Amino acid sequence: MSVIETDERLSPTIRSFVQKRLGLLIDGQWVESAEGGRLEVLNPATAERICDVAEGRIEDIDRAVQAAKRAFEEGPWRRMSGADRARLIWTLSDLIEAHADEFAQLEALDNGKPHLVARAADVEIAIDTFRYMAGWVTKLDGKAGSLSRQPISDANFLAVVKREPVGVVGQIIPWNFPLMMAAWKVAPALAAGCTIVLKPAEQTPLSALRLGELVQEAGFPNGVVNIVTGYGETAGAALVRHPNVAKVAFTGSTDVGKSIVEAAGQDLKKVSLELGGKSPAIVLDDADLDIAIPGAASAIFFNHGQSCTAGSRLFVHEKVYDAVVQGVSDAAKAIKLGEGLEDATEMGPLISDQQLTRVLGYVDSGLEEGATVITGGGRVRDKGYFVEPTVMVDAEPSMRMVREEIFGPVVAAIPFSDLDDVLQLANDSIFGLAAGVWTRDVSRALRVSDALQAGTVWVNTYNIVDAALPFGGYKQSGWGRELGREGFDLYLESKSICIQY
Ligand code: NAP
Ligand code: MG
Repeated sequence: MSVIETDERLSPTIRSFVQKRLGLLIDGQWVESAEGGRLEVLNPATAERICDVAEGRIEDIDRAVQAAKRAFEEGPWRRMSGADRARLIWTLSDLIEAHADEFAQLEALDNGKPHLVARAADVEIAIDTFRYMAGWVTKLDGKAGSLSRQPISDANFLAVVKREPVGVVGQIIPWNFPLMMAAWKVAPALAAGCTIVLKPAEQTPLSALRLGELVQEAGFPNGVVNIVTGYGETAGAALVRHPNVAKVAFTGSTDVGKSIVEAAGQDLKKVSLELGGKSPAIVLDDADLDIAIPGAASAIFFNHGQSCTAGSRLFVHEKVYDAVVQGVSDAAKAIKLGEGLEDATEMGPLISDQQLTRVLGYVDSGLEEGATVITGGGRVRDKGYFVEPTVMVDAEPSMRMVREEIFGPVVAAIPFSDLDDVLQLANDSIFGLAAGVWTRDVSRALRVSDALQAGTVWVNTYNIVDAALPFGGYKQSGWGRELGREGFDLYLESKSICIQY
């Protein structure tokens, strides 16, 4: 009997879900992978096996893409009215809501995050993303009008610009917000009328597979949503290279993002990328510290620092530096580490042994380069991949741990005295995903927001993401914007029709 079977913290639905033989969703059917391989799924809080899932490879990706292509070209999906398509997407959001607590448990088990946090953030945002995108379906309007000049004398012209779905899309997502990342990808693609092959991260395939069950229950036509679990190097790479995929949408590391651009360049597929970050959190001397301190702490420690927006460079004005560093460090010490399934847990484990080694490696590199750990800095518990929330000082902008994405609960605090200097430091990064500033002065807040090279700037708050707000990065943090109208547009082509009459 597996541990899961007797775990009373899990709902019976989840206990039976993980004991199923989980397959690939291809053309509306749950199937085995062609080669029959399986992939182990671990609980990062215990390093114990939860279950296994099918390991899809090149042949499975091909079957899934062919199904998506048929569904796009021949199925009822393209002929469906906008209202019907929107209703299906909304039905899916209702089903996720009806199973919201179960999704939160599944994320806690598979990713390690606290289930109450997953319920309030990941699952809520996923539901909202489907609803927000369902609203765009019936607003898919192009335009009709005249030409800018008269190309032929005495002729009349009508110009029509139509918006059309790009076609079959390949979507590759990471392990840090498994369900939410699936929603950010799948919802706008469905709204635009595309068909999908989704590849979840090898570490966290479970919520996407459960989502696939609900896609079936909602009644989407076969082949509209296909889900192939497997490794990035095999399944992911095959999806990016497949000639029948019109667009690739990817969230993950900058290195893999670059390899995707290279592969997709072979046939010039459209690509959108949401990559890494090294976001600055800037506390000015006039900030309300009762807001700034918890804000800066949650900027880095939310989701165990495994967030592309993590505020991992904390720039604090020298007048308030001691108070802020002390406050963030007290907040770090107060965080309760534990299993995501426990109600009291505020921070769970990192996702994997590999991430544990990587994150601790960055702490060591900081120490070697002369930084000091004032809180945390080590592994805790002998089981699972737990790392203490860590605050480092004496950090220099040139240090590796200040320049590179750590993707763990480690923040480097750096004092500043001049606003222009700190803006230059904040922008001195290959990344440009997000930033935060705390100040009571509206003019300074706006001046800082203007100066920061970042896709999102939060003022007196942090990590507020919303389906209505475009999300993505400047510089090497990515290409394109997800969410908002821009996120919907990612999945649309424009067609100009010019009629002489
Ligand atoms: P990753 O390798 O970039 O994984 C992201 C997704 O891409 C996964 O589904 C992965 O599959 C897939 N993938 C990997 N190699 C691929 C390839 N050659 N072709 C197509 N798809 C491929 O990220 P990771 O290794 O899990 O994490 C490493 C670092 O990436 C983290 O430390 C962090 O810095 C960054 N990261 C960023 C984000 C973000 O939100 N921007 C999220 C996660 C990680 P597998 O699951 O099989 O690898
Ligand atoms: Mg990987």
